[in-house]
Amino acid sequence: MIQPGGTIGILGGGQLGRMTGLAARSLGYDVHVLDPDPNCPASVIASRTVAARFDDADAAASLAERCAVVTLEIEQIGTAALAAVAARTPLRPSAEAVHVIQDRIRQKTWLAANGFPVGAFRAVGSRDESVAAFEQLGRCIFKSTSGGYDGRGQIRVGSAEAAADAWKSLGERPCLVEQFLDIASEISMLVARRPAGAGSIDLPRHVTFPPSFNHHEHGILDWSVLPAAVGPATVREAEEVANGIAATLGIEGLIAVEMFIQQDGSLLVNELAPRPHNTFHSTERGCATSQFEQLVRAVCDLPLGSTEILRPAAIANLLGDLWSDGTPDFAAALTVPSVRLHLYGKASARPGRKMGHLSAVGLTGDEARDRVLRARDAMRIGA
Ligand code: ATP
Ligand code: MG
Repeated sequence: MIQPGGTIGILGGGQLGRMTGLAARSLGYDVHVLDPDPNCPASVIASRTVAARFDDADAAASLAERCAVVTLEIEQIGTAALAAVAARTPLRPSAEAVHVIQDRIRQKTWLAANGFPVGAFRAVGSRDESVAAFEQLGRCIFKSTSGGYDGRGQIRVGSAEAAADAWKSLGERPCLVEQFLDIASEISMLVARRPAGAGSIDLPRHVTFPPSFNHHEHGILDWSVLPAAVGPATVREAEEVANGIAATLGIEGLIAVEMFIQQDGSLLVNELAPRPHNTFHSTERGCATSQFEQLVRAVCDLPLGSTEILRPAAIANLLGDLWSDGTPDFAAALTVPSVRLHLYGKASARPGRKMGHLSAVGLTGDEARDRVLRARDAMRIGA
């Protein structure tokens, strides 16, 4: 167990690292961060920022030397850097779990091989295989194996010519090709798991948050509501799948599982993230324990917190587009009942870049969602 007062290292200093760091600080821990950008969002809450690339093993070793445990907020960390950390201090989640998840082909293949429900997919390594994948799957999505997020590195394909073009524009490198699924809705699950724990009801080894309901626009999360309004059978099935994945991967820390609910009600796993997740930012408002505090507890092997919902909550993302006509009207957003503003401290606002989010609670999930959407509309210049 790593007692409060110890130092937690975080690989990655983006908004997830910043919010994890704030929770760690609140619990009395010190925070060190590694990120290529010395002015990354987490740098202002870290007492030490190691400015280095995510494949710099020497820098990762230097971070680990002074930390009682190291966790991460991004999965694209070089294998040698992960090994350098693990040789010096506990790395939670493990290098093995991150290795499985950080490559989309490896991840989907692992899910299928371990019996978790996934849609039809192919791994392709040439132009001919790309065309053949379209011919077998029909309408599909090409996803680059690594480095993609927020819908980047993804191309939707509806013809053999488009499949050949997608292969070319994704750099003629191995791709995951997924059948385009007829999705009714999207939910996500979040499991926290600690290294030890008695495995008793009072001191569980793992806890599972209620499902979040997620709405995407152009492949990017737009808003999310906690808890998702889905039936008990769906919740049970989603929990079973998420807990199974967490246990099979031996997760120490957090794992988020993005899921599709198909038109017939069946669940498929979309993708995994071994870290805090955008769709669970609402836990800061609606749950007894936020995802960030839960991560700190899990990696420090402290008792896990309750995942009980106190109030339905929602978040809406603030993308850089909102800044295109100048600074948004933050004050207008804050007039909406229960709304809070969360900004990540990013200097430049580019279209599609996550700059912050709004959160709110409500008597129902719908009320919370209406509040964050109303607040976001009010922020638009000239609204
Ligand atoms: P994020 O970082 O926001 O999680 P990502 O870049 O990792 O996104 P995915 O989660 O793979 O990308 O896809 C983004 C969104 O695109 C999904 O949430 C879903 O709305 C849609 N999508 C992805 N794969 C499929 C599919 N096979 N069929 C239909 N829609 C899909
Ligand atoms: Mg996703």
